[in-house]
Amino acid sequence: MRTLAILGAVGALVAGVALPALASTKPSHAEAATLQQMAFDDAQSLVVASQATSAPMQRSGYSATTPEEIAKKKAEEAAKARAAAAARVAAATRATGSTSRVSDEDLRLAASGSGAVRYPLPQGSYHVSRTVGSGHNGADMVAPAGTPIFAAAGGVVRVSSESYFGYGVAVVIDSVVGGKRVSTTYAHMTNGTRAVQAGQAVEAGQFIGKVGNTGHSFGAHLHFEVKVNGGLVEPIGWLRVNAG
Ligand SMILES: [Zn+2]
Repeated sequence: MRTLAILGAVGALVAGVALPALASTKPSHAEAATLQQMAFDDAQSLVVASQATSAPMQRSGYSATTPEEIAKKKAEEAAKARAAAAARVAAATRATGSTSRVSDEDLRLAASGSGAVRYPLPQGSYHVSRTVGSGHNGADMVAPAGTPIFAAAGGVVRVSSESYFGYGVAVVIDSVVGGKRVSTTYAHMTNGTRAVQAGQAVEAGQFIGKVGNTGHSFGAHLHFEVKVNGGLVEPIGWLRVNAG
C-alpha cells in the first residue's frame, strides 16, 4: 500500500510530463563500422549541401546564368543533398536505434526544411508522442538519445543551461520570423552536448545539442516549444506550415 501511495504521488507530480515510448536496441560493432563508413561516404555530398545553402553565387560549376536559374539550381542541389542526408539518418536510426555513432560533423548538416524555419530533428528520426494541451506546452518528439537537434529558426540564444528547471538540459532561442517574435525551446537534451551559449547568434538549422532524457523526462525525447508573439502555438503544425 505504501509503495502504491508513493507511486501515486510521483504520478501526480509528473502529470503533464510525457512518457514517450522507448525503442532502444543496442548497436553492434559491425553496425557502428557501417555507420562510420556511411558518414565517410556521404561527407562529399554533405559538403555540397552546405555550400549550396550558404555559399555565394559565384561557384563556377553551374551552367545556369540568370540569378533565377542559379537559385533554382542551388535549391535543387540542396534539396537532393538534404533528402540523401535525411534518408541516411533514418536508415542509421532504424539499423541501430541510435544515431550517436555517426559523426557530429556529418549530422549537423542534416537539418531538413528550408528557409527561415527548419525541423529541429532529422526527418525520419523521430515520432511525435504528444503535443500541446492539458498543461503540456510543447511537442514531444521521441528520438534516440544522441540524435542531433537543430535550431528551428535563426536568432539569439536566450537560455543555454545544463539544468533549466524541469526542462533539464535546455536551450531557448529568440527569433524573428516573418516579422513575428518567435521563441523556440529545446528541452531534455543530453548532458554536455549543448553546442551554443546564451547571447550567441545562431542560424536556422544550426546544430545546438543532442536528444537526451534530462529533467522531467522519462525516455529520450525532444520537448519542443514554440511561442509566437508570446503565445504558445502547436509546434508540429507550425513546422509543417513554415519549414517548407
Ligand atoms: Zn514535453
